[in-house]
Amino acid sequence: MSNSNVLDYLNDPSPRTLGRSPLEWLDRLHKPTVVRVAGRDRSRTRAMATLLHGNEPSGLFALHRWLIEQHTPEVNMLFLLGGVYPAKIPPAFSIRQLPEGRDLNRSFKEPFEGEEGAIAQAMLAELHKAQPECLLDVHNTSGTGPAFAVTITNDAAHQALTSLFTDRLIMTDLRLGALMEYSEQEVPTVTIECGGAQDDQAHQLAYEGLVRYTSRPDVLSLEKAEWDVAVLRNPIRVELAPEATIEYRLEPSGQADLTFPPDIEHRNFGIVSPDEPLGWIGEKGLNILTAISHNRTENMEQVLRVKDGQIYPAQALKAFMITTNPVIAKSDCLFYAVKATGEPIF
Ligand SMILES: [Zn+2]
Repeated sequence: MSNSNVLDYLNDPSPRTLGRSPLEWLDRLHKPTVVRVAGRDRSRTRAMATLLHGNEPSGLFALHRWLIEQHTPEVNMLFLLGGVYPAKIPPAFSIRQLPEGRDLNRSFKEPFEGEEGAIAQAMLAELHKAQPECLLDVHNTSGTGPAFAVTITNDAAHQALTSLFTDRLIMTDLRLGALMEYSEQEVPTVTIECGGAQDDQAHQLAYEGLVRYTSRPDVLSLEKAEWDVAVLRNPIRVELAPEATIEYRLEPSGQADLTFPPDIEHRNFGIVSPDEPLGWIGEKGLNILTAISHNRTENMEQVLRVKDGQIYPAQALKAFMITTNPVIAKSDCLFYAVKATGEPIF
């Protein structure tokens, strides 16, 4: 299949064609779309993907605003809008992927199966053609919380890209078929998690980061970075057993296997010490939870412990991507954690 069957192309789109709002623009998009904008220096290109998940609109909102404002970027820009199909399903921007489809951001690997595989392959072909000097992939988190970046490579260039948006970089050795693994092609690549999909702050951050990304002559040098970047290495994932129940309440009802307070999201990226309770556990105890590292080892004892029905960190931890959405908590994971120092727990 040729790329033009899978993708649509917009070259230097005029503001008239973009609708008055991101929603109007989305109405006019019919396929995953490549947007190219010519820069002052036409010999170089930077790339940005976004909307790989249909319910994560900050990157598209930022791009719409940036295109309407008609900025001239420092170098050529290649934008890749991935999950146009799920984003368009009413109500717009409400579902991550098509009901029968795959996760597009797990599809950037052989054998490129199904419709998402074809989209991923076509996006990779566009990147290969454009030979960008770097690549960003802009997402939102499911819960609210501060922004962070994710990478498979931690060096100065990846930290510099991160610093356009945030001061936290998570380094992972896990390979899932995510677009950020393009870093392996010697193109510095980071995923930016702008914060919650419903947060105006996240949309604003995506826009400000995009302006920095497109307007600076050099985005890969750490000397030019806005702030120091804290690197968190190989977080473990804490998952809830499929049959377990979770509640978000100020105190346990006695009905659930796990109870977190409704404001648990405020713990995102803060340090939790071993004497601070995180929530309540039911009669099944910690057996309903697993803590998995990037190399698939499991060791709950180093993460959580139970005292008088309450859960405490087993050591000082930094947790993130804590959600208060029970569906996400069950289908994806409860939270990620590293040691308070940023080092892996195990
Ligand atoms: Zn995402």
